[in-house]
Amino acid sequence: MLKVVFPGSFDPPTLGHLNIIERACAIFDEVFVVVAENRQKNYLFSAPERLEMMEKLVKPGGNVRCFVWDSLIVDFLKRENIRLLIRGIRGMDDFSHEFELSIMNKALYPDVETLFMTTDPKYIVLRSSSIKELAHYRGDISLMVPPLVADILKKKLAGLEPKTAKEPGSGA
Ligand code: ADP
Repeated sequence: MLKVVFPGSFDPPTLGHLNIIERACAIFDEVFVVVAENRQKNYLFSAPERLEMMEKLVKPGGNVRCFVWDSLIVDFLKRENIRLLIRGIRGMDDFSHEFELSIMNKALYPDVETLFMTTDPKYIVLRSSSIKELAHYRGDISLMVPPLVADILKKKLAGLEPKTAKEPGSGA
């Protein structure tokens, strides 16, 4: 069984992430999507929310399993007895960051091999942080995330907006 781990924040999942998962599913027997919970990061969505979105988005009954992990990814790999990590690459910035991470992970766990999958050019500019910003300003994100994410994002941001102050003397 060829198994691979695809870790990320997925805050929220985008079409770029889902494209990497779909392509990995066509190559590997099992794909383990790992939603990272890093207490030092400020996520918009909680880990259970990100996990729930991911579970709804990946094909039911397919060869993908989703997890939350709040520690080093190499410890997840060791626990599951998996040697392969996959990372998506949108350009040289991603590459230099991912390259360093892969060397660090190899130092922590010499058996690990990191594989880089280049993005589909359709998704080259998609990044969760810019999508959140765009959604905040009510920009159209329909070509960037699945409808389920667009909907949840809209509701989340609406819930975070301060309530409009009542006009003085406008009553209850
Ligand atoms: P972000 O999406 O904010 O860059 P993530 O931690 O959620 O960050 O990304 C998880 C993995 O998915 C990383 O390997 C990242 O490079 C990859 N990835 C993110 N967006 C894309 C995309 N549009 N195309 C391909 N890979 C992507």
